[in-house]
Amino acid sequence: MSEIADHAEALVRHDAKGGFPPQQQEPPGLTSAMDPVPDHGEDTYVGHGKLEGRKALITGGDSGIGRAVAIAFAREGADVAISYLPEEQSDAEDTLGWVRRAGRNGVLVPGDLVERDTCQQVVADAVEGLGGLDILVNNAGYHWDRGPSGIEGLEPEHVERVLRTNLHAVIWITQAAEPHLAPGSSIIMTTSIQAYDPSPSLLDYAATKAALNNLTVNLAASLGPKGIRVNAVAPGPIWTPLQPATRGTDKIETFGADTPLGRAGQPGEVAPAYVFLASPSDASYVSGTVIGVTGGGAVF
Ligand code: NAD
Ligand code: MG
Repeated sequence: MSEIADHAEALVRHDAKGGFPPQQQEPPGLTSAMDPVPDHGEDTYVGHGKLEGRKALITGGDSGIGRAVAIAFAREGADVAISYLPEEQSDAEDTLGWVRRAGRNGVLVPGDLVERDTCQQVVADAVEGLGGLDILVNNAGYHWDRGPSGIEGLEPEHVERVLRTNLHAVIWITQAAEPHLAPGSSIIMTTSIQAYDPSPSLLDYAATKAALNNLTVNLAASLGPKGIRVNAVAPGPIWTPLQPATRGTDKIETFGADTPLGRAGQPGEVAPAYVFLASPSDASYVSGTVIGVTGGGAVF
């Protein structure tokens, strides 16, 4: 069987029936506690030198989509700085191990991004550890889907954290990173199907992801003259620690089953979109757009 067919089969095998065993974690959640453990492309992703010598900062690079992107970027030849919350140290170290096994330089830059000072420090640490920066993946994110649905269910503590993690931090990190980005650099946001088809139980979260789409287009306009491309990836339901850490078990059991493809995606199925957008050759004329990786949900 070909390499490509092997990859596709390995990813589909995990959750072909749709849904997952009931399980719950506390935020931010850890990979090792998940059943099944997500597939980040560890056994399948094959690099082709598309990002040779590039230097990437990935927020939320410890787990889930961020880990899959870190593995793919490293196998494509990039050095990677991984931003994460201090309580995710074990996940961050696992991802670092994959980056190093790909023969690349990996750097850990912990810190809580709800604070602007920390955003600036994380970027400074990444630039120092990597010796520069030309890819920024704004991927850290948070939501809370355990309370009553709709406007009456919103609690100040969670709304504040959602807005500061998903929107404010992206602004402050991008502001801090921009002076380091030379022509040919790429900024990639992680938005969501929620920006297009919002769930009432994720009212605040969906709004931040719609705002990120707007930010993507606007930044692409203002940074285009500097040769910096800005794009976004909008995933559908993807099996990551965010889900059991922030949703009730009833929603986990059916997670992803209502997509046209009938299942949740694995982080390893999302990473290739980031590789494409990061690539200075493949995506040289691609800016201000959003790639959906949704299992069939429309992102327009
Ligand atoms: P994940 O839990 O593996 O990753 C999210 C990461 O965000 C965490 O690992 C953590 O390191 C980071 N983070 C959260 N709050 C932070 C803070 N205050 N400071 C620093 N880092 C913080 O889950 P994931 O699903 O891979 O999430 C990655 C992105 O994908 C998020 O932006 C999420 O909104 C988005 N997304 C996920 C799905 C999905 O179904 N999993 C769907 C659409 C979009
Ligand atoms: Mg994590």
